Amino acid sequence: MTRVVIIGAGIVGANLADELTLRGWTDVTVLDQGPLPLTGGSTSHAPGLVFQTNPSKAMTEFAGYTVRKLLDLGCFHQVGGMEVASTAARWADLKRKHGWATSWGVEAHLIDPDECVRRWPMLDQDQIFGALYVPTDGLAVASRAVSELITRATSRGAQFVGSTRVTGIEQAHGHVTGVETADGVIPADIVVSCAGFWGREIGEMVGMTVPLLPLAHQYAKTGQLAELAGADPATPALPILRHQDQDLYFRQHGDRLGIGSYAHRPMPVDKFAEPGEVTASAMPSMLPFTEDDFAPSWEESKLLLPALGQTKAEEGFNGIFSFTPDGGSLVGESSDVRGFWIAEAIWVTHSAGIAKAVAESIVDGRAETDLHELDVHRFEDVQLAPEYVRETAQQNFVEIYDVLHPLQPRLSPRDLRVSPFHARQRELGAVFLEAGGWERPHWFESNAHLLKDLPHDFLPPARDAWASQFHSPIVAAEAWHTRNRVALYDMTPLKRVEVSGPGSLEFLQGLTTNQLAKSVGSVTYTLMLDDAGGVRSDITVARLEPELFQVGINGNIDVAYLRSRAPEGVRVADTTGGTCCVGVWGPLARDLVQPLSAEDLSHTGLKYFRGRRARIAGVPVTILRLSYVGELGWEIYTSADNGQRLWDALWRAGQPLGVIAAGRGAFNSLRLEKGYRLWGTDMTTEHDPYEAGVGFAVRPAKGDFVGRDAIDGRSEDTAARRLRCLTVNDGRTVVLGKEPVFVDGVAAGYVTSAAYGYTIGRPIAYGWLPGSVEIGATVEIEYFGRRVPATVAAEPLVDPGMERIRR
Ligand code: FAD
Repeated sequence: MTRVVIIGAGIVGANLADELTLRGWTDVTVLDQGPLPLTGGSTSHAPGLVFQTNPSKAMTEFAGYTVRKLLDLGCFHQVGGMEVASTAARWADLKRKHGWATSWGVEAHLIDPDECVRRWPMLDQDQIFGALYVPTDGLAVASRAVSELITRATSRGAQFVGSTRVTGIEQAHGHVTGVETADGVIPADIVVSCAGFWGREIGEMVGMTVPLLPLAHQYAKTGQLAELAGADPATPALPILRHQDQDLYFRQHGDRLGIGSYAHRPMPVDKFAEPGEVTASAMPSMLPFTEDDFAPSWEESKLLLPALGQTKAEEGFNGIFSFTPDGGSLVGESSDVRGFWIAEAIWVTHSAGIAKAVAESIVDGRAETDLHELDVHRFEDVQLAPEYVRETAQQNFVEIYDVLHPLQPRLSPRDLRVSPFHARQRELGAVFLEAGGWERPHWFESNAHLLKDLPHDFLPPARDAWASQFHSPIVAAEAWHTRNRVALYDMTPLKRVEVSGPGSLEFLQGLTTNQLAKSVGSVTYTLMLDDAGGVRSDITVARLEPELFQVGINGNIDVAYLRSRAPEGVRVADTTGGTCCVGVWGPLARDLVQPLSAEDLSHTGLKYFRGRRARIAGVPVTILRLSYVGELGWEIYTSADNGQRLWDALWRAGQPLGVIAAGRGAFNSLRLEKGYRLWGTDMTTEHDPYEAGVGFAVRPAKGDFVGRDAIDGRSEDTAARRLRCLTVNDGRTVVLGKEPVFVDGVAAGYVTSAAYGYTIGRPIAYGWLPGSVEIGATVEIEYFGRRVPATVAAEPLVDPGMERIRR
């Protein structure tokens, strides 16, 4: 039987032991440095508010599971959750949030100030516009849940050992073999660190960087309130309450209120107290209350809840828990030390759901809910630097309740990674947004003058204030130019690896769905599936030499996956940073590039989905005939040192043709017009290729590959749900993604990617819908509380016959 050691008996570790033993893995030992069951970690003092609604579908599902599980355990007070708005911006945002709840299947209501006060009589009605009310939210009794889970897991065979500190992890041949404690080594095949904010130290034991930062967060309790006189602490009745405009939340403790505040300065904690005796008011995760930091929050609390004027904040503490660069949890197996897993930076809210997903990943090799947003490998190297983690995690603390636009970039740190074209892009007035540390142009101010000549039918309608943010009408001109002339797109940040060495072909064949055993020069769009047939990535494989493949992938998670699977002799090298790529696309692309090269770049000379090494203006390049925007052209790669010269040569040669530089705004619009999916947004491991509309990339006849058996017998016809292309009927409401879609008045799906389609003169939204919804059907998208009719359209919307690309 596989021997599992879990480090940490907080809410995460205890849930994981429960989930593993539930699945029949009973050789589970849980170690904690603190006494049991109150270990002194963050869980031991957690006030336990569970607000389920989250922009992330996965996190909402994890919260929903936690609620159901803790209810079953008798450790949840389902008092409901209320998030009030005291500003118009927040009220609008709560409407958007109502959309997320509906998209992810959580019952939610927008309630007016009268109803707010009916549910929370102490609220000052004049302070609020209304609230988002979720009846199934409530209070987790986290420490009791830990006790219950310990009892249940122990009854199935698990062992919990308190006051035992893990001091090292033993490994041999790249695999964990045991866990070291003062009492000796405990042998293990799998070790899972559920050490909460101590996670970095455990990661260091195997050389793994865990990008989290422990921060203190203030929690206080008021004195007795006459309004709550006689209330039983064991049965809270008031809904949990969030006042996000002031970074505050509230819960009832009998006849008192608890107040949590994120309004104070970020307080990173670098040194932790030794675990020792733990009491309700003294534990390593608690620091002394700093009253000055709380003072402004107290004043704001009294404004919202005037009854607090009769009392004061009687007691409080600064409690420690984990923050990460993007605010997400950290889950996954080390790619260097097999069998070493982490499950950290997890709130009580998501604890049971994530523990279930981790148990599924360990036992079955995959989780029912896609985990890429939590995957510890999602960070780029530059994002693992301690300075980066420290700065961005503190930003996340500060912004935790802010209204954030989905495109809103961080302001700092910036300029971490720039492509070799960056200097030229700046000269052209590029407006950069950041992703994965890369500066990516979204449009170029130098193209503004093109707007005046834009044909009338290409002119987009005015956007509302929300959809106008991080957007410019210049994007329309860039899209027009790509469809009618030629544009340069910086594709450098798209991740790529070289897979090389004897056995490379067999290795890639075994992981992918499409036929890669083709001649040198072939380029193939293919999928990587998981064992259950879910799409774990879509990749483009260029065979440059018999045993050398350039593979365009979706991010670091793919690098970790490929590396962890690569057999002896096969090398997976991340070449992204040392190379660059410019997409030259548009009907005049050949007029631009051909004169610069001795190679035959005619339609037959370098066919669609073929590539070769070449020289362009003397620069050694790899040129792939591909187009993510649906126009004639190539992706041209070269080493970073040659990048600027390549750009300059293309730019100069393009002047007579009116070449422009174009950004991601145009790119996103054009790709949606062409129906090209974006992995992670449009499809994940939760979808099979046929549902996602990429079944054309599956060739079961090629031989065995991961996921082949699972999808055997499936087809477009068996798909119970489909990723569909919608166009918005009013021609002007540009939705942004994650909005719910209603079929016959019932919420039945949600939007994934969206953009305005300049060529077709309508907004486009891709979305998941039941398979029974046919092309031509009218559906409705909820956008800030409004239902906007949309039509299910045949795809692609532009150039279904591929005449624009194949010429
Ligand atoms: P912990 O409970 O900290 O457990 C980790 C365990 O690992 C500890 O018991 C520790 O002793 C053990 N450990 C560490 N190192 C070692 C070692 N070397 N050897 C052996 N054992 C080790 N979340 C919500 O969802 N809702 C809320 O309302 C909420 N409010 C909060 C309020 C405050 C003031 C704070 C500080 C946090 C709050 N949180 C809330 C967050 C939540 O409490 C934590 O995210 C959660 O409890 C973390 O659980 P865990 O099991 O990962 O960590």
